[in-house]
Amino acid sequence: MSEDIVVKALIERLGADCVLTGDDVHSRSAGIWRSDTIQAKAIVRARSTEEVSEAMKICHAHDQTVVAHGGLTGLVKASLTAPDDVVISLERMNAIEEIDAVNRTATVQSGAILQTIQEAAEEQGLMFPLDLGGRGSCTIGGNISTNAGGNRVIRYGMTRDMVLGLEAVLADGTVVTSLNQMIKNNAGYDLKHLFVGSEGSLGIVTRAVLRLREMPTSRATMFVGVDEFAKLGQLLKLIDAELGGTLSAFEVMWNNFYTLVTTEPAKNQPPISQEYPYYVLIEAMGANDELVEAVLGRAYEEGLVVDAVFAQSEAQRQALWAMRDDVEQCFRYGPTISFDVSMRISCMEDYVQAVQAGMDDAFDEYRLFIFGHLGDGNLHLVAGVDGAEKRELVERCVYAPLEPIGGSVSAEHGVGLEKKPYLAMCRSPEEIDLMRTLKTALDPKGLLNPGKIFDAA
Ligand SMILES: Cc1cc2nc3c(=O)[nH]c(=O)nc-3n(C[C@H](O)[C@H](O)[C@H](O)COP(=O)(O)OP(=O)(O)OC[C@H]3O[C@@H](n4cnc5c(N)ncnc54)[C@H](O)[C@@H]3O)c2cc1C
Repeated sequence: MSEDIVVKALIERLGADCVLTGDDVHSRSAGIWRSDTIQAKAIVRARSTEEVSEAMKICHAHDQTVVAHGGLTGLVKASLTAPDDVVISLERMNAIEEIDAVNRTATVQSGAILQTIQEAAEEQGLMFPLDLGGRGSCTIGGNISTNAGGNRVIRYGMTRDMVLGLEAVLADGTVVTSLNQMIKNNAGYDLKHLFVGSEGSLGIVTRAVLRLREMPTSRATMFVGVDEFAKLGQLLKLIDAELGGTLSAFEVMWNNFYTLVTTEPAKNQPPISQEYPYYVLIEAMGANDELVEAVLGRAYEEGLVVDAVFAQSEAQRQALWAMRDDVEQCFRYGPTISFDVSMRISCMEDYVQAVQAGMDDAFDEYRLFIFGHLGDGNLHLVAGVDGAEKRELVERCVYAPLEPIGGSVSAEHGVGLEKKPYLAMCRSPEEIDLMRTLKTALDPKGLLNPGKIFDAA
């Protein structure tokens, strides 16, 4: 049987310590957001790029499908496996190989945890700017493969913008080492982009060179109330223009999300009244406090904010962020469906109204919490309706209004299996055909993360 042949060959080549089977596989959680366990014929816990390559050579020879696993914090079912798949887990390839303080780069193995990389950079007075709620569990390989966004995109861009080079193992086991360390390198195609955001479907990322920044010398954090949607965009423009490029977060919460995360049993205290329709958590890294206060004063005078608090200590700053990160409160009333959509900010108010109108028509009762990285045009919607069979109807309410405004069904979480049926709503047939051409060129047998994002040719 081919199953036994592949597992046997993997054990023979890599050693039993490297290859989990049976209960050692089935007892492992399928992901941080999931209640089930991993279904796969084996998990290869590779210790080096060479071992990933050896494993892929064996799988390629046997037409064996493979799914790469990082921290399993992804939100779109991109790392789900079938019982016949082999998992290659990067959990043991977690070394920070080098922090180069002069050239401001970090060279890391792809299983390194994001928070560990942040802390290693900080020890050298530097910053790796990627930051998201899953920082303590997600891996840089997963961040690269999903092109993760997070809280500082408005200032530093997505993961794609922080990767200078990488190493990947292709479907046939070929190792492509492209560990560029320079900010500028236009010598031919920039191959790293094939692997950033392709959700493990074109290759397995094994190492990466990351761009580090100087650690900002200050961090000003504010929380403001806003009484009209149109003022959110004006406030963003004013603050960004006046703060001289230091704006690093502009996170918006609709009233019901704010009320939810600041009312018991949630542990956060409301820093300002719960009566305003919108709230914004604003952070400026490297701005001086007087300038920030002056800009906030101007926003008051112009009527763009109606209430505000300024974090006076690190504890207060963390309390403001804890409120924003307390997304789990949305799940406390029952089953929910989470969305991650993007659009131009100018379209956002009408979009939200269209979603609400659709939900009003479709359901007698529902919950809809809205928050997100508004500065990046990215909203998260968490919808709660009773009955799993209603999922498709909710998805239609959220996704259909995106089409006429050129929005995207995935701002930062990727496509995986969850958004696969909706990819064609925001990508043209020609774009999807080109994705298929790339997939066929790099993985003609369709072995890497099969069935995710789109169906191969
Ligand atoms: C509390 C919380 C908050 C979050 N907030 C955000 C947020 O603000 N923004 C955001 O973008 N995401 C967010 N996420 C989602 C998640 O953390 C990211 O998608 C993250 O990048 C996934 O990394 P991972 O290591 O867990 O990858 P996994 O979940 O293990 O895998 C994700 C995908 O990447 C592939 N993959 C993993 N490692 C490799 C590799 N080495 N080579 C090739 N393919 C690989 C997998 O096959 C799969 O397709 C959040 C998650 C949590 C738990």
